[in-house]
Amino acid sequence: MSAATNGSTGNGGPSVASRNGGSSFINGKGNASARGNNIAQTNDDGTIVTEQQMASANGNGHAAANGNGHSAANGHGTANLNGNGNGNAHLSDGTKLGRAEEVDDLLTAVRELVIPFIKAADDAATQKHTGQTYRTPSGETHNVLVDYQKPADLVSRLKMTLPEEGKGKEGLMDSIQKVLQYSVNTWDQGFMDKLFSTNTPVGVISDLVLSVLNTNLHVYQVSPALTVIEKTTARALANMFGFTGPHAGGINCQGGSASNLTSMVVARNTLYPECRSSGNAGHDFVVFTSVHGHYSVEKSAMICGMGSGSVWGVPVDEAGRMKPDALREMVRRAKAEGKTPFYVNATAGTTVRGAYEPLEEISAVCKEHNLWMHVDGSFGGPAIFSKRHKNKLRGSHLADSLTVNPHKMMNVPSTCSFLLGPDMSIFNKANTTAAGYLFHSHADGEVWDLADLTLQCGRRADSLKLALAWQYYGTAGFERQIDHAFDMAEYLFGKIGASPSLELLSPELPSCLQVCFYYAPGGTMSVDSAVNTKMTSTIVHGLIPRGFMVDYAPGEKGSFLRVVVNCQTQKGTLDGLVKAIEEVGKELYG
Ligand SMILES: *Cc1c(COP(=O)(O)O)cnc(C)c1O
Repeated sequence: MSAATNGSTGNGGPSVASRNGGSSFINGKGNASARGNNIAQTNDDGTIVTEQQMASANGNGHAAANGNGHSAANGHGTANLNGNGNGNAHLSDGTKLGRAEEVDDLLTAVRELVIPFIKAADDAATQKHTGQTYRTPSGETHNVLVDYQKPADLVSRLKMTLPEEGKGKEGLMDSIQKVLQYSVNTWDQGFMDKLFSTNTPVGVISDLVLSVLNTNLHVYQVSPALTVIEKTTARALANMFGFTGPHAGGINCQGGSASNLTSMVVARNTLYPECRSSGNAGHDFVVFTSVHGHYSVEKSAMICGMGSGSVWGVPVDEAGRMKPDALREMVRRAKAEGKTPFYVNATAGTTVRGAYEPLEEISAVCKEHNLWMHVDGSFGGPAIFSKRHKNKLRGSHLADSLTVNPHKMMNVPSTCSFLLGPDMSIFNKANTTAAGYLFHSHADGEVWDLADLTLQCGRRADSLKLALAWQYYGTAGFERQIDHAFDMAEYLFGKIGASPSLELLSPELPSCLQVCFYYAPGGTMSVDSAVNTKMTSTIVHGLIPRGFMVDYAPGEKGSFLRVVVNCQTQKGTLDGLVKAIEEVGKELYG
């Protein structure tokens, strides 16, 4: 009977364990007995433990320690590292690789650096509500968020040199320690600067697993399990957005920009297949996106040889959403000028203000004029997990392609972006090249060599990071996290609105997780936009020593502050942030 089998079946727990001498046996000998269930061993108290008893104690021991069915993996792992003799295995020439022991050793060492790094952010969270820098139990202040240095100072502090002879473990740990010290600690609650935010425990683990596997998700042969996982995960995600046909699914790209670029290539090669061999084939293409759309649309047009001038910016309404009537008008104008309009990018959660554009109305214009409709949900897409907020994406199923970045709103570690669509065979037809040396076709008509759907060859299996987070939290867990994030945006909105020295950019509730506002000393903003801009950037920089990092963006009355909350943001953090802004502003401007 193997330890693994016992681990997963033995639920007797404490009663069996106590027969063998109580919990000390489990803790002290659990690993040892995994070494060999076939021999009897002497227990702590000198009694002989039979094979049967020991095996069950071992299994139960793990089960008790883990509290669930993880014991099987545990039993295997322990047995391999400690007991099967692999660690001492010598090669035919008498040497040994010893890599497992080396990884184990480095992991143990690096744990001592990374766990305190995360712990520091957890500890700092307990004082964020004060709006002041974290004070350690011994009374010193410690800015956990960042030890900010000017570039030249950082160069001399880091003293980064690449040595002729390796410095081994000690040099490695020294370097890692410095990297941690001078990096922004995004686990800190005060990090509300960008659309990506913090990581999660399962995120850390998934990156570790990916690195251990170190494989390439281009063809099934070298990444069979990961290929199945990417297809399954992308399809589940596609289903959420209403892509439910037999070939619905998606692919993982290196980021939102790459997903958007891929969608433009697929669109052009699908609507105008001659472009696959003849470039833009004499077409004077036009692309539409709102004036608040992400710059990657412009970059994509540049990469596709259309030039940034081929991207026409459609005006937005007061809430920052593309105006469908203006789009219709511009498409007509482009056609009248002899151009070939072919692609519309509608944004679900614009980068600065978080606006969700009206997908159904935009789709109607696309259908009238046979245009490809892409939805850029890089940031706002995950709202689809929330019953309360998914209506913001009403009409997503009408799109031809859709980008969503789990590495932003969902706290999946960077990078993790998906390009989804109603029919993956279209992606394949648009992007496939005859690389017979790499892609070997499959008889079942399904594409299993996923790179053949993309613009890449080698691909990292970033999809695993979403897959594991989904396993860990579940669809319902994601929904609760996302609902919480939207609640926090509303909470911050309310606090800004109630503050006598802050002025909201818009009186409407935030549509996504960005809250935008100005500092208005004594309740009045300057009529000079340059003054407001200066005030905003000075306050933003003044917040960093207090452990808060937020961003700003240009607006009509000058630059405004933009705070991005996330799934892990706590109310106390927002209380502290508002306090800190009011205090820093008062110190500077009264
Ligand atoms: C962030 C963002 C992108 C780009 O995504 P990356 O992963 O940073 O390349 C594209 N579109 C929108 C709306 C975004 O917010």
